[in-house]
Amino acid sequence: MGNMDIAPDLILDVKGLTKHFPIERGFLKKVVGHVRAVSDVSFSVKKGETLGLVGESGCGKTTTARMIMKAVEPTAGSVRFRTDQGVVDMAKVDRRELKAIRRDMQMIFQDPYSSLNPRMTVQEIVGEPLGNYGYSAEESKKRVQELLALVGLNPKYLSRYPHAFSGGQRQRLGIARALALDPSLIVCDEPVSALDVSVQAQILNLLKDLQDELGLTYLFIAHDLSVIRHICDRVAVMYFGRIVELADTDILFNNPLHPYTKALLRAVPDPDPREEWLGGVICGEIPDPTKEMVGCSFSPRCAYVQKQCEQICPQLIDVATQGEQTHQVACHLVAEATGLRKEA
Ligand code: SF4
Repeated sequence: MGNMDIAPDLILDVKGLTKHFPIERGFLKKVVGHVRAVSDVSFSVKKGETLGLVGESGCGKTTTARMIMKAVEPTAGSVRFRTDQGVVDMAKVDRRELKAIRRDMQMIFQDPYSSLNPRMTVQEIVGEPLGNYGYSAEESKKRVQELLALVGLNPKYLSRYPHAFSGGQRQRLGIARALALDPSLIVCDEPVSALDVSVQAQILNLLKDLQDELGLTYLFIAHDLSVIRHICDRVAVMYFGRIVELADTDILFNNPLHPYTKALLRAVPDPDPREEWLGGVICGEIPDPTKEMVGCSFSPRCAYVQKQCEQICPQLIDVATQGEQTHQVACHLVAEATGLRKEA
């Protein structure tokens, strides 16, 4: 484990994270280009908070999460994570170290129908991580019963199979499994998007209650802004592999500054049927991820594009007006309007 401190209130600090997937051709798998999935992403997560990563499909949010979990190797950048034993760089740990770190960092997946093995019982599914860490059969059974109660399921369901549960109950099993080893950080990858709307709120409320009870920290990935607004303390908006805006949730929803965030928010219909909806789809082309983009990646779709937008990639800068607030934006127009050019 390395010694590479991060601020004491942080659990995760990501700097310059980049992933370019090689495009291989032919028998010899010659690399003929790259898909730029994530480019120079930096953010941090405070202990006990929920940070949302939001954006359209293909914006790089899931690849970012997978690099943090070390399921995908980064092309560049660092992922510093605070464990019980100290701060480690996930990009540099080996397999033996990774096993120890896995206790502290777990994942909840999108689809509770396919993420649970249909041939395994509840005891086997929820207790599987425990077996990998030396729990006896008796200890594992006791812990699984505790976990089922914690997520609102009957502890007597140990020998049932996933098909006997509803979608919401299966996601509760996924959450119980993620909690088995008492982690500090949970990466939630679209955890409610496969569920009925009526069940989504129950699962989100369960995640909030567990956070309060167990002091958990969440990195919460979603494309649905109403879900993000319900559960996140701060939100990072991703577009074409970069963070374009990062702010406290209230600030982001009440005072979005980046043209892409504004367009995303306009595209969400107002739940009040008496209000006229003025939104719509975002027009224009998404750039080709196999080609290097020199300027702002939103420029082909942006109504405010200027000459410099096509020549210089805007950096994420701090535009917060009050001390404790977070508000960072990557846009030349916003930088000029605020007169702030402080690097975030
Ligand atoms: Fe639009 Fe330019 Fe801002 Fe990009 S940098 S979002 S093109 S105004």
